[in-house]
Amino acid sequence: MSPDSASTRSSSRVFPREFDHELPKAVRGEGIWVIDSEGRRYLDASGGAAVSCLGHSHPAVIQAIQRQAALLPFAYSHFFTSEPLEELATLLVDAAPAGMDKVFFVAGGSEATEAALKLARQYHLERGEPRRRKFIARRQSYHGNTLGALAVSSNPGRREPYLPMLMEVRHIAPCYAYREKRTDESEEAYGLRVADELDQAIRELGPENVAAFIAEPVVGATLGACPAVPGYFKRVREICDRHGVLLILDEVMCGMGRCGTLYACEAEGVVPDILTMAKGLGAGYQPIGAVMAHRRVVAAIEDGSRALMHGHTYFNHTIAVAAAVAVQRTFKAENLLENVRRQGARLKQGLEERLGNHRHVGDVRGRGLFLGIELVQDRASKRPFDPALKLHARLRDAGMSEGMMCYPTGGCVDGKRGDHVILAPPYIVTDREVDEIVERTGRTIDRALRGLPA
Ligand code: PLP
Repeated sequence: MSPDSASTRSSSRVFPREFDHELPKAVRGEGIWVIDSEGRRYLDASGGAAVSCLGHSHPAVIQAIQRQAALLPFAYSHFFTSEPLEELATLLVDAAPAGMDKVFFVAGGSEATEAALKLARQYHLERGEPRRRKFIARRQSYHGNTLGALAVSSNPGRREPYLPMLMEVRHIAPCYAYREKRTDESEEAYGLRVADELDQAIRELGPENVAAFIAEPVVGATLGACPAVPGYFKRVREICDRHGVLLILDEVMCGMGRCGTLYACEAEGVVPDILTMAKGLGAGYQPIGAVMAHRRVVAAIEDGSRALMHGHTYFNHTIAVAAAVAVQRTFKAENLLENVRRQGARLKQGLEERLGNHRHVGDVRGRGLFLGIELVQDRASKRPFDPALKLHARLRDAGMSEGMMCYPTGGCVDGKRGDHVILAPPYIVTDREVDEIVERTGRTIDRALRGLPA
């Protein structure tokens, strides 16, 4: 296609565009609904991409932003701290697993991953172990789109054009029981078997060369809200400790209450060395991410020879932290994590009842209000749909036609996963809205599958 014909595809001057059709223009939010310029209403069943955890019009967050904008929008973090910055750090650290002592704020999830990788590297440097610079991550994972984050991610489509620019990373198997657990082994045995791949990878690379292992406690975009089996992360923690390798947990998508506890790792009973978060932290009202570190990591840097060399212009951004304080206070004031657990159970049960016998639904999984539906061509063999059918794009369009945003991801990778629909509605969702999501999800799947080979 010539450059000229490409530029006439859409009248929009926004670049780049992933879609070859015009998108509706969003103008307003009302609770968990988004309304477009034609007055059409869309139920936000995915919080965008697991972002909008308070819906789109929460007065407490809007007021906090307005107040901070009027007082002081931006206090450059090299010169000043601020009240909302200190309060946010205190709220997050006080609620974190024991030992997670300090936190700093960045502009989003990819930047949080970059900062976490650099922090891990610097920790080892300060401790006199300069050879520790290799990272281990998992296949079918996503940690962001900048070059460092993309290197630890394992999303072939996104990585392929940039491969020569990415650092070398060892990728091991994810904990993906639906496809990888053998029928003759228990969940526990499977968890230990797959965790032991980490031990083997560290030994092969040489422990003295390995900086950190990074993983999502509940895998989002690449595995459709897939939690590990019980015991997996405990074993991972033991292996990291045995070899002096840091454990980075990426809670950008699954953290901040999404799975029913403020930090997803609480459910695993493990404490990481470094933890990243974003999405629900600012609830979509402001772009913000964070990196939290265990006191032994903090101590190495604070007692070390240099400051952490990560600090972008907008780090600890004043309006962003003020918004995030309001988000944290709202979680407590409205007892929202309790609602996540209650509505999460209702949503899962509703989906299982509605879709449990669907010939193309292989699995319904997830935790809290972070649920995934894996679609397969054939339930018995778990064979995924042909990626050429672009089922994920059909699901997105079908959802919009049903007046609902869901978050489809997928296209099978080497036959190793199917297409998924992620549901991650705002924590303020009500019984009636949950039932509506179940109904619309069923219709969305049927509409997307219409006309495809049975
Ligand atoms: N880590 C995880 C687990 C994610 O799901 C994402 C985004 O989807 C990122 C990192 C990157 O975050 P961002 O898109 O804010 O850069």
